Amino acid sequence: MFDRLYRSAVLGVASRKPVEDLVRARAWSVAQRFVAGEQSTTAIQAVQDLARDGILGNLDLLGEFVNSPETANIFAEQVLALQTQAAAAGVAPYVSVKLSSVGQGLTVNGEDLGLHNARRIVAQAREYGGFVCLDMEDHPRVDVTLAQLRTLIGEFGREHVGSVLQSYLYRSEADRAALDDLRPNLRIVKGAYLEPETVAMPVKADVDAAYRRLVYSHLKAGNYTNIATHDPEIISDVKMFVLSHGIPRTQFEFQMLYGIRRDLQKKLAAEGFTVRAYIPYGRDWYAYFSRRIAERPANVMFVLRGMLKG
Ligand SMILES: Cc1cc2nc3c(=O)[nH]c(=O)nc-3n(C[C@H](O)[C@H](O)[C@H](O)COP(=O)(O)OP(=O)(O)OC[C@H]3O[C@@H](n4cnc5c(N)ncnc54)[C@H](O)[C@@H]3O)c2cc1C
Repeated sequence: MFDRLYRSAVLGVASRKPVEDLVRARAWSVAQRFVAGEQSTTAIQAVQDLARDGILGNLDLLGEFVNSPETANIFAEQVLALQTQAAAAGVAPYVSVKLSSVGQGLTVNGEDLGLHNARRIVAQAREYGGFVCLDMEDHPRVDVTLAQLRTLIGEFGREHVGSVLQSYLYRSEADRAALDDLRPNLRIVKGAYLEPETVAMPVKADVDAAYRRLVYSHLKAGNYTNIATHDPEIISDVKMFVLSHGIPRTQFEFQMLYGIRRDLQKKLAAEGFTVRAYIPYGRDWYAYFSRRIAERPANVMFVLRGMLKG
């Protein structure tokens, strides 16, 4: 309950324009711990740096809901350019995309613009031997995102596109079962948005228990599973689970956010597990940064100290 109140308070304060202006002006040096610069070149460099520790990358051009087709198309072009740049640098592009940033919900020529742009991005990723993960946003977008996932897997194959389920949503276990016929590559997360109690579990212990159930059932069904958490207890339980169920290491990977639990990322990679860091970059870093801060009281102090240092 405290977690929810804390998250709600921090996100509430962070959403005020004067706070945003202040943090943008004074906290960029702190934000760079979580964000790999503002340009695609620095993000691709981050992938190459992590590769030295045996860690893979997942590039994310930061950006959320847009309300004009022009902005959505510009954003999609930037993702396409990122994939081309990554491929030219010898990195098979693995990108995450929020469909709201490429036009989901906007209809152009009778078609959802988000799906139209996602098709272009996934088609190009397939050409380069890459992969696109459709990030999961707030709960009103779940139905449409999963429907679009189904369409895209049908057109391009599950080797090139997957999505995310959030364990805090009551609906996610049913959603996972309903997708089973696709054998989809899914990332399991706890969930980062401030959701009403009518749709999301308010108690952390319930979210953690649902997280384990989602991961275990997706693995048991034989599907590729991305275990995206920094939670050391869950990670250790998953390691025991795969061992006791004879699940091969080629069927799952651990994923964490850039700059968070770097020690654990390196340790897992050194133990021979596949580890992938989610590498956000771009000028639109504020909303992402606020969510990371809202996850952990210690991070607020980290930001305040950084701002005082200037
Ligand atoms: C690769 C990846 C992709 C994601 N994609 C999505 C998505 O598409 N949609 C979505 O809603 N959410 C997404 N998330 C965010 C996710 O929903 C959680 O908000 C976030 O991962 C924090 O939860 P946790 O699983 O680490 O567990 P928590 O219960 O929050 O934390 C467990 C432990 O991890 C450590 N930890 C967690 N956060 C931090 C931090 N900020 N700083 C330092 N230590 C920390 C602490 O030791 C903590 O005790 C993603 C997360 C990851 C790792």
